[in-house]
Amino acid sequence: MAPKNENRPTSPSDPVERLASLRHEFGEHGGVNMSIEASTTFTVMEAGTMPEIFQGHLGPDDGGCYLYGRHFNPTVYVLGRQLAALEGGETGYCTGSGLGAISSALLGLLDQGDHVVASDTLYGGSWAMLAEFFPRKCGITTTFVDIQNPEAVAAACTDRTRVIYTESLSNPTLRLADLPMLAEVAHGHDARLVVDNTFTPLAITPMDHGADVVVHSLTKFVNGASDFIAGAVVGSSEFISSLMDLHMGPLMILGPTMDPQVAHSISLRIPHLPIRMKEHARRAQVFAERLHECGIKVSYPGLQSHEGHELFKRIGRPEYGFGGLLTIDAGTSAKAEALMDDLQNTEGFGFMAVSLGYFDTLMSCSASSTSSEMSDEAMRAAGIAPGLLRMSVGFTGSLEQRWKQLERALDRVGLRS
Ligand code: PLP
Repeated sequence: MAPKNENRPTSPSDPVERLASLRHEFGEHGGVNMSIEASTTFTVMEAGTMPEIFQGHLGPDDGGCYLYGRHFNPTVYVLGRQLAALEGGETGYCTGSGLGAISSALLGLLDQGDHVVASDTLYGGSWAMLAEFFPRKCGITTTFVDIQNPEAVAAACTDRTRVIYTESLSNPTLRLADLPMLAEVAHGHDARLVVDNTFTPLAITPMDHGADVVVHSLTKFVNGASDFIAGAVVGSSEFISSLMDLHMGPLMILGPTMDPQVAHSISLRIPHLPIRMKEHARRAQVFAERLHECGIKVSYPGLQSHEGHELFKRIGRPEYGFGGLLTIDAGTSAKAEALMDDLQNTEGFGFMAVSLGYFDTLMSCSASSTSSEMSDEAMRAAGIAPGLLRMSVGFTGSLEQRWKQLERALDRVGLRS
């Protein structure tokens, strides 16, 4: 079915308006939802066109056809376009995991002998990739620095630095990256700024502040139901094409392809991502304020006491608040574990589970879980205390019902003064 909105302008500055301006994909039989292209391979109608199709010179819009699912699947491509609209980039490409997206993007920008300057507080898997895997397997080295310190970032850059890598809001310490500053330093050194925006879709749009490439674990907020592992890379069309090069493109050669069934499911959740993000943030803000009033050591960028609060107000999009994650420093791992146990098993408030962005609350102690790849020294530098409890605030139940549960659990484990 031919969509009538093919030629709508697609350059508004607001992500939700950009999404609404995308061409709508109807189902094969006119359904309001697109169909899933479940084939791994596509039929060439004239034998003589195969070489040109294979070289990418004769696509479906030029009288040729799609070629092979690892390279390109139309359903996966639609989700890529949605991610590009969300992030304000030219093109998006979706992968089978967040780490698949991060490794592909970085390997696309880096060669053997190149150097990365990265935030010293990152998701444990990304830290291990940069600190251990890349140097040993690819000869790519990384210097980890306090990403909020412009002098430290600039001083770490060498003539082989090709990438500055950071999370917009760090996992799990919720340190906010000063993206305009980092973009300036990166571009001054002929490097690219790559930002993992998994924690703050919509609330922060890194490309508005100079980021060259944005990566996501779609496993988290974008998906929202903790039922798929998925990732995405957004960047210029030229960069994404280079990732698909037949000889040197990491997406093509290493093959971290997304399944079209997964792409289809996630694509249908993008339209309500803005509503979900607002509610995650609204509840996290109320909990953080009340926890703070109770004398709990809570960190949340929406609190005046958070060192990134003013910067977030400057670079964030206010209608989406300050994100859906907060942390509580319970003092010791035993206290943090007692609180999680009580919340899950006595109160029925959320689940002890790694990951985030689920519709229900998820809680974990980062030092013993998602940051455990880091060395003790790296963990200390990042400020990840043993009693640090990360909470991804969900939106099931009523806010007051959930607050009462939280209050009772805090009292039982003796955390409330
Ligand atoms: N980036 C961040 C900030 C994460 O928290 C995670 C996973 O927790 C990843 C990347 C990796 O994503 P995935 O598990 O989808 O590979």
